[in-house]
Amino acid sequence: MVKFNTLLVRGGRPNDNSTGAVNVPIYNSSTFRYPKLGADVKWDYERSGNPTRDAVEDVCAKLENGDRGFAFSSGMAAIHAALALFKPGDHLIIGDNIYGGTFRLVNDFLKPRGLEFTEVDTQDADAVAAAFKPNTKGVYFEPVTNPLLKVSSVKQISQIAHQHNALVVVDNTFLTPYLQRPLDLGADVVLHSATKYLGGHSDFTAGMIVTKTKDLSDQIYAIQNTIGAVLAPQEANLLRRGIQTLNIRMDRHIQNAEKIIAYLQSNPKVAKIYYPTVDKASQDYQIISDEAKGAGGVLSFEVQPGLDAAKFVNSLQLIILAVSLGAAESLVEVPAFMSHFEIPKPERLKMGIKDELIRLSVGLEDADDLIADLDQAFQQI
Ligand SMILES: *Cc1c(COP(=O)(O)O)cnc(C)c1O
Repeated sequence: MVKFNTLLVRGGRPNDNSTGAVNVPIYNSSTFRYPKLGADVKWDYERSGNPTRDAVEDVCAKLENGDRGFAFSSGMAAIHAALALFKPGDHLIIGDNIYGGTFRLVNDFLKPRGLEFTEVDTQDADAVAAAFKPNTKGVYFEPVTNPLLKVSSVKQISQIAHQHNALVVVDNTFLTPYLQRPLDLGADVVLHSATKYLGGHSDFTAGMIVTKTKDLSDQIYAIQNTIGAVLAPQEANLLRRGIQTLNIRMDRHIQNAEKIIAYLQSNPKVAKIYYPTVDKASQDYQIISDEAKGAGGVLSFEVQPGLDAAKFVNSLQLIILAVSLGAAESLVEVPAFMSHFEIPKPERLKMGIKDELIRLSVGLEDADDLIADLDQAFQQI
């Protein structure tokens, strides 16, 4: 097999048709002709499969070293499909710092339908081990969390979960297969909001699941085909195109993040920086060094108590005030007032999300310009 960077660019299926096109075309076809009644056709209806979607699913399966990929219309659709592997009466252990939309899915949708969940700090292996019950069927977590960039070990949690015959489902939106391959570390299912780094350009929403075994693939296929939140061919093509440059984008995201961190470290108005490689004595640093090739392009920081985070972000001129992450352009948000606003303040503070916390998704602009923008905004507060 060729190396990862070659797979990114060339992993898609070549010779898809007779025209010599180097890319799989956008097949705008919801239905496909049967040569004759009862023929064993590969394609029959878009919800069940479309060649453009299939091509990008195939690349993702290879990138994650999995059995099969499944592309969805959003990250949440992928998460819903992955959690549909479980049944009423099943118990799942979930990370206590997972994406807000996933919490909403769990609390407002799945719990009322009979699934049980226990929130656990997945950085604490003993706490994970202690949370198993006789009906525990799965563990769901994010190896790097949002917005505090806490790192959990896929290896260790997978080992514990498999002793209990529980499935390990990992949302690896923040790292992508370029930096970490959870299936190789023991996970059974890896999923992404492909809206973020895999797509990479803030121009569509998508989700991706990659399964480790044929049995899981068959189950997810049935769920996807039944629930139907599939990725449309136009977006499947955009995702294919985004993935081709994942490596060079991610390298630059990290390079820019490191330069910004060096600047923030020298700024007395910054109280704390959250990024897994900042504290080399930490467990986070140990795990990220052992299980990933880098920490990605998102970082958070707190301004000193009393300084106005709202005024700071309102003063930024180049960096865009917006939720989401993983795009070419730099995005900034204040979790307490934006992405995590729904969480009551006492709970939010317990999670470590202060009003002074600012999250930055570092883009691909020149780092000097990003630092100059941050610097002029600091001068306003
Ligand atoms: C954005 C995000 C999601 C949800 O994905 P959508 O594409 O917005 O539906 C899930 N998990 C993480 C970690 C995310 O950042």
